[in-house]
Amino acid sequence: MILLDGKKTSEAIQQEIADEVAEIKANGGKVPHLAAILVGNDGGSVTYVTNKVLACERVGFGSSLIRYEDDVTEEELLAKIKELNESEVVDGFIVQLPLPKHINTQKVLEAVDPKKDVDGFHPANVGRMVAGLTSFLPATPYGILQLIERYGIETNGKHCVVIGRSNIVGSPMSILMAKAAYPGNATVTLCHRNTVDLAYHTRQADIIIAAVGIPGLITADMVKEGAVVIDVGTTRVPDATRKSGYRLRGDVDFDNVAPKCSYITPVPGGVGPLTIAMLLKNTLRAARKEVYA
Ligand code: NAD
Repeated sequence: MILLDGKKTSEAIQQEIADEVAEIKANGGKVPHLAAILVGNDGGSVTYVTNKVLACERVGFGSSLIRYEDDVTEEELLAKIKELNESEVVDGFIVQLPLPKHINTQKVLEAVDPKKDVDGFHPANVGRMVAGLTSFLPATPYGILQLIERYGIETNGKHCVVIGRSNIVGSPMSILMAKAAYPGNATVTLCHRNTVDLAYHTRQADIIIAAVGIPGLITADMVKEGAVVIDVGTTRVPDATRKSGYRLRGDVDFDNVAPKCSYITPVPGGVGPLTIAMLLKNTLRAARKEVYA
């Protein structure tokens, strides 16, 4: 069993990005700049955005954090997005989700210029991804592809079972794994909350990608000997022994599943760390105008 080390892989990708930024600087080019809009004070969102901004500093990007209180109006947000779309400085930006209920999230996401949509959530980028055109891939599936690629995991002709159909993880993951490319060329089954007999499907899988948010959903009896198991789930469960009062648990019953696997991601330290690296990568691609040439 080989542990897929997301932390190490993320650090390697961030080092490559930092090297590219150093080269851009040395050649007198414009340093990539990521902006993030954060609404409200939700603990998780504040941490995520802070980590994204800190990661920008580490690789040498410029960054700006734009904060609003919970009562910000949709108009104010849309005006800021328009300003960022037109900015000469900002290459890419994100709107941290979730947004308060009085704001129409879809309208906000669609206001982002697809050329600066480094989260890859705009329908133009989703459509381009489905059509096999260059696009900004959503960071989590993009990170999983990197993990598979950098560990040289065979995907050609394999049966990949993706569990979860969210727009940010499961659905794009299922599309990408079926693409005529590496990593890809897999036969894909997409399971979700309406799936009857999940175990029937997972037992046939060469590759399982679980993105559900139910700790321990995938048990050893559901996994074929030698399978590759990628666990996206990160659920906070109470843990009095931790300073934070909680720990993260994945969708996979790691202790019992791991001995059966050829490769498996831990939680934490698997898929999670890659998400930030791939957001930075998308920002670099935006600055280099690689997606919309
Ligand atoms: P979501 O809540 O939007 O979707 C969950 C999906 O699971 C749904 O499509 C639903 O149909 C499916 N589902 C629910 N119960 C099921 C069941 N019993 N059997 C099969 N499928 C079932 O989730 P999301 O935003 O895609 O996130 C999924 C998990 O991944 C969460 O734990 C989240 O915290 C985590 N996540 C981690 C990262 C990261 O590590 N960087 C990024 C995104 C999401």
